[in-house]
Amino acid sequence: MAYASVYPLVSARSLARPFTYEVPDDVGPGAVVEVRFGGGKRRGVVVDVVDAPPRGIDAVPIEKVVDDVPAALVELALWLADYYGSTPARALELVAPIKRARRVDRPHPAIREALAGEEAPEALSGSQTDVVGRIVAAMDGGSGAHFLLYGATGSGKTEVYLQACAAALERGLGAIVLVPEIGLTPQAVGRFRARFGEGIAILHSALTDAERRDERERVAAGRARVVIGARSAVSAPVRGLGLICIDEEHDASYKQESDPRYDARTVAAKRASLEGAAAVYGSATPRPESWERLERLELGGRLAGPLPPVKVVDLRRERGYPLSAPLLAELGAIAENGGKAILLLNRRGVAPALHCRACGKTIRCANCDVSLVLHGDGLLRCHHCAWTEPAPQTCPACASAELARLGAGTQRLERELEAHVPELQRVRLDADAVAKPGAAAEALSRFAEGDRIVLIGTQMVAKGHHFSGVALAAVVDADTGLGLPDFRAEERTFQLLTQLAGRSGRDAPGRVLVQTFQPDARAIQLAARHDVREFLAGELERRRELAYPPFRHLVRVVASGPEAASPARLLSELKGGLDHGDVLGPAPLLRLRGRHRAQLVAKTEQPRRVAARVAELLVDAAAAMRKAGVTAVVDVDPQSL
Ligand SMILES: [Zn+2]
Ligand SMILES: [Zn+2]
Repeated sequence: MAYASVYPLVSARSLARPFTYEVPDDVGPGAVVEVRFGGGKRRGVVVDVVDAPPRGIDAVPIEKVVDDVPAALVELALWLADYYGSTPARALELVAPIKRARRVDRPHPAIREALAGEEAPEALSGSQTDVVGRIVAAMDGGSGAHFLLYGATGSGKTEVYLQACAAALERGLGAIVLVPEIGLTPQAVGRFRARFGEGIAILHSALTDAERRDERERVAAGRARVVIGARSAVSAPVRGLGLICIDEEHDASYKQESDPRYDARTVAAKRASLEGAAAVYGSATPRPESWERLERLELGGRLAGPLPPVKVVDLRRERGYPLSAPLLAELGAIAENGGKAILLLNRRGVAPALHCRACGKTIRCANCDVSLVLHGDGLLRCHHCAWTEPAPQTCPACASAELARLGAGTQRLERELEAHVPELQRVRLDADAVAKPGAAAEALSRFAEGDRIVLIGTQMVAKGHHFSGVALAAVVDADTGLGLPDFRAEERTFQLLTQLAGRSGRDAPGRVLVQTFQPDARAIQLAARHDVREFLAGELERRRELAYPPFRHLVRVVASGPEAASPARLLSELKGGLDHGDVLGPAPLLRLRGRHRAQLVAKTEQPRRVAARVAELLVDAAAAMRKAGVTAVVDVDPQSL
């Protein structure tokens, strides 16, 4: 008999330590076991095995072994819990999710979710050959390597991932390919399926529990050795991992916004190092962090010809919002000559606010400090909480009937298109339109097959789609993100504009239009010139001066409570107890879901140390916080402020 340290998978922070159980000799780290715990039975994960129990501990035997995960994933989970200030149990849940009973045989989700993929090219370009050679050499070296794969949209990054995955399989190794939102990239799944057939598994949050269990089982058993998935696939039970590719590495959806608040890109780097795998971060608009830190592999420009010219439309001079005269002219040309158009407007609904012309009141959410958004069904909705109310006919404050709809959202854009260019078909892609499962894939395939058709949507329309025949890509309002008080606001705007521009003219001459009230903004000017290097150089210079990532890490603490003063008071106390790093705040934030909020931001070279200190201080403050109804969330490397 041997003894094992087991983390029971319970979420309580007070129980966040390992417990000793007696186990059979063949049980090792990574075994998922059922144990008696706190009067019931619980799943747990073995993290260590020893010959004797700690002195004074009377260990009981485990009930049974129910599963096992690679030992390297246990190490990864414990690191993740420590780095992001979560508990080992919550991190271990990521690598050992619950198994459900087997039901019936069903088709693999990859079959359902794939669109027909493009054929393999007859030959690779010179730069593709060089880049694949570098990645394969690193894989053969087996000591872990991290690359930035930089190339314009259409420069052949996906083919590099495919070739590198094939090389991993030839060596008997496995591969993981992370994509931002798999439901929006059915073509990518199609290409992998065309190349590797049944050898791929797909993992993402929209699968049913049973589907996810089946896919994980095929991966664990080695029947599927290439895994494609969203963020959570970074912890797929691949054995003998040779390669991790992170496609569209700039995408913010790689960060999980609930506990454990991990960033799949950082976790992928750690996993590659632990398992001696090569990590490849690909993008046409890399993060400043990756540009600064990673070895760069360059693919160069677009394979099928130059990037399309971008025309900036100055909304201060042009009439017509959301459809300016130049944009209507371009759409008219498509109605006449055929082709497809993509219109990006990063706001849902009909109008982002209802505003009274008589008294100046804007109708706000009762629970949050934000305006309510008018939707096409006549309801006002809060985009932060579930609050919904009928849109009033008169102002609730002064009873005036002069309620103006401010701005435009995707639903209004759809109506305006119907009014001005009715001969074009319309497909809308936003969170409201794709709420039903399968709706996104259906919308995308309708657009792929259509002609004289417009895809209207939020940032979803800029995500890695490869449609043929796109003659026009237009940003209806480039300013929506620029005004946000976030150090990544410019980076996000630049990425969104450049990515959308890349959707146009992939196989035919294309046009790009950017409508803005700030035509001189740096992010807009440089995106219009496709000048990624210049943008990143300036952005890095600014971040170095202000000590933002990648030059310092950020640790953000957000406190919230029922009264206005208590969150800031807690944060002031925390700040007094922090002896390390440069701490900004407390600064008030918007009230959300009826709770007043404030934040503290630390800039530091030692994020784990700061997060650990904050955790200690929060334990000390726990009683007072409970009394005041205040809660706090610690976010290491937050993606927005
Ligand atoms: Zn009024
Ligand atoms: Zn609200």
